[in-house]
Amino acid sequence: MRPGIVAVGIVGTVLVSVSGLVGEDVLSAFGEMGTTGAAMVPICADLGYDVSPTGLTTSQATNVPTGGDLPGFGPGQDEQIATARTIVAVGQAAGVPDQGLVVAVSTALQESGLRNLPDGDRDSRGVFQQRPSQGWGTADQVRDVEHAARAFFGGPGSPHHDPASGRTEPPGLLDITGWEQMSVTAAAQAVQRSGFPDAYAKHEERARTVVAAILGTTDRPSGSTLADYRVEGIDAATLETEGVDVEGFCSSAFDRPTTIAVSTVTSLGSPGAWGGHQNGRIPLDQLQALSWAPNHRLRPDAAAALERLAAEYQATFGRPLQITGSYRTYAQQVTLKASKPRLAATPGTSNHGWGTAVDLADGIQTFGTPRHEWMVTHGPTHGWYLPDWARRGGAKPEPWHFEYRG
Ligand SMILES: [Zn+2]
Repeated sequence: MRPGIVAVGIVGTVLVSVSGLVGEDVLSAFGEMGTTGAAMVPICADLGYDVSPTGLTTSQATNVPTGGDLPGFGPGQDEQIATARTIVAVGQAAGVPDQGLVVAVSTALQESGLRNLPDGDRDSRGVFQQRPSQGWGTADQVRDVEHAARAFFGGPGSPHHDPASGRTEPPGLLDITGWEQMSVTAAAQAVQRSGFPDAYAKHEERARTVVAAILGTTDRPSGSTLADYRVEGIDAATLETEGVDVEGFCSSAFDRPTTIAVSTVTSLGSPGAWGGHQNGRIPLDQLQALSWAPNHRLRPDAAAALERLAAEYQATFGRPLQITGSYRTYAQQVTLKASKPRLAATPGTSNHGWGTAVDLADGIQTFGTPRHEWMVTHGPTHGWYLPDWARRGGAKPEPWHFEYRG
């Protein structure tokens, strides 16, 4: 199943976005998997997976369509497919919303069947049957699909746009006030001023199918990066909170290149490892949730010690110990590193990933406060220490970060 046009607002954005960097093959594969799969591509890249086409695992690679097939077209229709792709690419480069792409493809289906016709009614030529006598370009230009499409879409990208006056003549789609509120056929007619104004409507459904398919598979102009296309609100940490096995997904879809993780690999078997687990990859049921802060989990002995320390804190200050950080999955460490590059540890190296560190608040996070001083003094009686590197004057002062050395 390729993504349907109904979801193009989201799916289209995600799929098209990602394709700029990872290319058509990956996008095709993830088009088969739907929105979630495609949105995962930049997240997997964060985690060190190779999201280039060659980084696909065999199972994903076998899902990649090999031909240039497009729904609505049959064998021998390569020209139509190529033309549709060009129109969509030109529209996207001009910032035309998906609905405008549908208008353009509907128009081309009606005018030429997506063929670059050498002639037509009166002096009409080309895919959009534009007329040189009406200012659309020379006879050669209106048969240049890219030129014709730029003229059709109009706006600042039109070959007929005059920067001095800000006008585009003849006007293209983007120059038609309120085109977004028009029906597809009305918008097409506003540009084409055809003698058969209702003729475009019958192509609308097919055009939607074609555009949706292309949005799932087309390459974007180079120069974009995954960061440009990240989907707001979709990140590894959020997905894990919602129960998505991010690492499991990425490792099933992509190879992890051997070059990535010199730093990660050395840390995986480093001292501090317990239970045979890797940093940030500890099954949640092997961690202990804190009784007064159940969203926070630690290694069971560290949790038990912190329970005792927190009880003492409560007795002293009459308030619960406030925790802002505890066990962090590898994916969460990656996300944190991205948002706080200077403060956060290299993913895979943090004691948070072993479930043996907490970040504390309620004044403890500030050097010199009574509660900070109290924690530095009393924490060690329960095995909780402010590491030397986190102290005032240390390598990376973090008054809030305490580690268990029980
Ligand atoms: Zn910390």
